[in-house]
Amino acid sequence: MNNYNDSYQTMLQAVRSFHKKYRFKETDGEEMTYRIALMTEELEEISACVTKGKAKEALGEEIADLFILVIGTALSQDIDLKAAFWSKMQQLESRQSRMIEGRIRVSEFRE
Ligand SMILES: [Mg+2]
Repeated sequence: MNNYNDSYQTMLQAVRSFHKKYRFKETDGEEMTYRIALMTEELEEISACVTKGKAKEALGEEIADLFILVIGTALSQDIDLKAAFWSKMQQLESRQSRMIEGRIRVSEFRE
């Protein structure tokens, strides 16, 4: 049991405050190519957790790093991520799934 507030609004506000504290907008911290590089870096750290068999806590920390960057990237681009999330989830729910080389894949399968 924890005391974390799991509302998206609260998480959004925390990331917004973080950007404000370090003046991301004024210091190119919200510039897209830079943000893509940062997200790639965190994705690589997630990958290393898997390939190096690191503890679940380490993996959770790297996923959180990426999640915070994703929220911040949406904020910096003035995108309503909550609306985009639910819109996309709705699309995904209606997609087909296939087993491809032993793994499940949910996609539009345009071929
Ligand atoms: Mg990290």
